[in-house]
Amino acid sequence: MSTISAARVPESLAGAVAAFTVQRNDAPVPEAERLAALATPKFGTVFTDHMVRIGWSVDAGWHDRRVVKYGPLLLDPASAVLHYGQEIFEGLKAYQHADGSVWSFRPEANAARFAASARRLALPVLAAEDFLGALVALVRTDVDWIPTGDETSLYLRPFMYASEKFLGVRPSLEAEFLVIASPVGPYFGGAVAPVSIWVAQDYHRASQGGTGAAKCGGNYAASLLPQQEAYDHGCEQVCFLDAATSTAIEELGGMNVFVVHADGSVSTPELTGSILEGVTRSSIIALLTDAGHEVRERQILLADLLAGIADGSVAEVFACGTAAVVTPIGRLKGTDFDLTVADGAAGAVTTSVRAELTDIQYGRAADRHGWLRRLV
Ligand SMILES: *Cc1c(COP(=O)(O)O)cnc(C)c1O
Repeated sequence: MSTISAARVPESLAGAVAAFTVQRNDAPVPEAERLAALATPKFGTVFTDHMVRIGWSVDAGWHDRRVVKYGPLLLDPASAVLHYGQEIFEGLKAYQHADGSVWSFRPEANAARFAASARRLALPVLAAEDFLGALVALVRTDVDWIPTGDETSLYLRPFMYASEKFLGVRPSLEAEFLVIASPVGPYFGGAVAPVSIWVAQDYHRASQGGTGAAKCGGNYAASLLPQQEAYDHGCEQVCFLDAATSTAIEELGGMNVFVVHADGSVSTPELTGSILEGVTRSSIIALLTDAGHEVRERQILLADLLAGIADGSVAEVFACGTAAVVTPIGRLKGTDFDLTVADGAAGAVTTSVRAELTDIQYGRAADRHGWLRRLV
């Protein structure tokens, strides 16, 4: 058992990181196997040697901050999460720069969103210092797991679930916070190819007053059947409309949406309470604004989007999120339409904003907004 030396840790987080004890895995993945996994990382399939755990109970508060061997959890069959879905998560990445330093991108935004999600799901709020300290503690322990190939990173998955053994319906009096990590390459594998989108007409992912603005597993559970429907119609992803009127574009199952108009202006659906506020979304709004584009957060009616694609006033459509960064949308399909966006290829604005964002994340361009935080 040891604690993490504070020497190479960001000054302000040294205390938060030191709060974690480290119990090293005595049977780590053999080096040859690890190097093979790092050479061709597939999204979310291989996990590092360690994970972070913090326990919570209403009486003891947050306790037992620790880095331990990665492995299965012991869950009581009556654990609240298994019955009522009281669970939230986050997703962010650690990027290795050319000089060997390791950075994350706007992790405070993920910490803040995790706290907001916790409030909505009646889970305890984890302090930002604990959230950030956990990331540093894990990445420092598993620093040999960061891939260095083109557009690779260590994907970090913090999550929290209701662990109380109790079948009654009320907020759990116990919870567990964990962080696991997985070396990843490009989300959709290989080149940045445009995806086709199925616009769901019969299903919604979220509604006013629901949990759409929280990053919780339940939203994803609701999106899986329509996602299956998208596959059945030959599409790769599903786009959801607002639940009240089924007329306005909201977002994909796990990515926000942008529309680039032929006049250079850009639109993205406004945050109505049922859309997840992406860190990538807000970063792209800033980068496009810097580049001189007028960016409007507004209601985007499906009918207007389809008309714009048909008459050429819509030049590009793309989706964005941490995992896939920026993905061009080449085709939009629904029960009574099937349209190709422009020539169906990745557009110039989509391509350049993607390059700009990844250049900042990988340390190839100046971080003029101060978005990067050093982990190692
Ligand atoms: C996580 C997520 C996003 C993207 O958020 P980022 O912070 O950019 O990764 C978009 N929509 C949904 C539903 C999500 O869960």
